[in-house]
Amino acid sequence: MKILVVGGAGYIGSICAELLLDEEHQVAIFDNLSEGHRSAVDPRAEFFEGDLGEQAKIRSTIAQSKPDAVMHFAASALVGESMQNPSKYFRNNIASGLNLLDAMIATGVQRLIFSSTCAIFGPPERLPIDETLPPRPINPYGESKLAFEKILRWYDQIHGFKFVSLRYFNAAGASAKFGEDHRHETHLIPNVLKVALGQKRHVEVFGTDYETPDGTCIRDYIHIVDLARAHILALKSPKSEFYNLGTGGGSSVREVIAACREISGRKIDIVEEPRRPGDPPRLIASSEKIKRELGWRPKFQSLEAIIESAWKWHEKFPDGYAD
Ligand code: UDP
Repeated sequence: MKILVVGGAGYIGSICAELLLDEEHQVAIFDNLSEGHRSAVDPRAEFFEGDLGEQAKIRSTIAQSKPDAVMHFAASALVGESMQNPSKYFRNNIASGLNLLDAMIATGVQRLIFSSTCAIFGPPERLPIDETLPPRPINPYGESKLAFEKILRWYDQIHGFKFVSLRYFNAAGASAKFGEDHRHETHLIPNVLKVALGQKRHVEVFGTDYETPDGTCIRDYIHIVDLARAHILALKSPKSEFYNLGTGGGSSVREVIAACREISGRKIDIVEEPRRPGDPPRLIASSEKIKRELGWRPKFQSLEAIIESAWKWHEKFPDGYAD
C-alpha cells in the first residue's frame, strides 16, 4: 500500500514510517517540522513540508502522493501546555485535523489511522481501562482528541469514511534508527536518561504521596515498535473502530528510575517535587479488544526491554536529532 504519514517526522510517526517501509509499503511524509525533525524523516520516504492549517497544501499533497490510506500523528500533545493554551490544542488537533479529513474526502482517500490517547478517559472508575469506560477528559488535550474521534464517527456515517482510532498509553523506547527527541522534554523516560547521560543534574519526581505502593504514579509504558505494529495491523481493519493500546502492566516513577539506573549503570539523582497538576495516580490499559479483533501481540512486554532500546538510542545520539 501507499501510506501518507502526517506528522511522520515526529517520534511516533517516524517509527511507523520506518516499519511501513521495512514491510515494503510506500510512504509519503507530511510534516511542518514544528515538533518533528528533518533528520527523523526516513530517507526512503517522499517528504512534503507543510502545515495542516493550510488546507490547499494538504490537499495538493494528497493529490500528488495518491495514498491508499493516511496515518495522522500531527498534533499538539502536552497535557500541561493544553491547560495554559487551550486554543492551540483545539486549533491544531481539531480545526487542522478537519482540513486533513476534508482534503481526504475531496481526493477520494477514505481510510485513516488516527493517533488518539488515554487522556480522553480522565481518571478512570476502574482498572484496567477498556473501551467501555465513559470518556471524561479533564484537560483540553484529551478533549480535543475525543472531539476528533466523534468527528470521525460522523464522517464514517455520512461519507462512508473508514478509520481506526488508537488510544495510546505511555509510548516509550526507540527503534535502532529513530527515538524520542522533543525540543522541550517533559516525558519521564527521556528525562531520566538525560540525567544518566550527564545532560541534566537530577530528575524531578512529581508526587511521592499518591495511593500507590511506593507513592509515585503508575503508568502503562508501551514499546514504540509494538505501537507502530498496531498501526500497520489497523490498516487491515474491516470496520471503523476504537482501540486502547498498552501492555496491561504498570510501572511507577520510582520503578522506571531504578530500571534506568540498572540498564545504564549510571548514577541518577532524584529530587522529590510536589504533584504535577492533572496527573492521575494510575493509568493501565486493557488491550484485549485489539488483541481479539486485530490479533495484536506486544513483543516487548517488560519495562526493561523498553528502557534498553531507549538507552541504546540516547547513547548513540546523545544530542538527539541536533537540528
Ligand atoms: N514524571 C516525573 N518526572 C518527570 C516527568 C514525568 O515524575 O520529569 C512523572 C509524571 O508526573 C507522571 C509519569 O512520570 O506521573 C509519566 O509522565 P509522562 O510525562 O512521561 O507521561 P504522561 O503519563 O503524563 O503522559
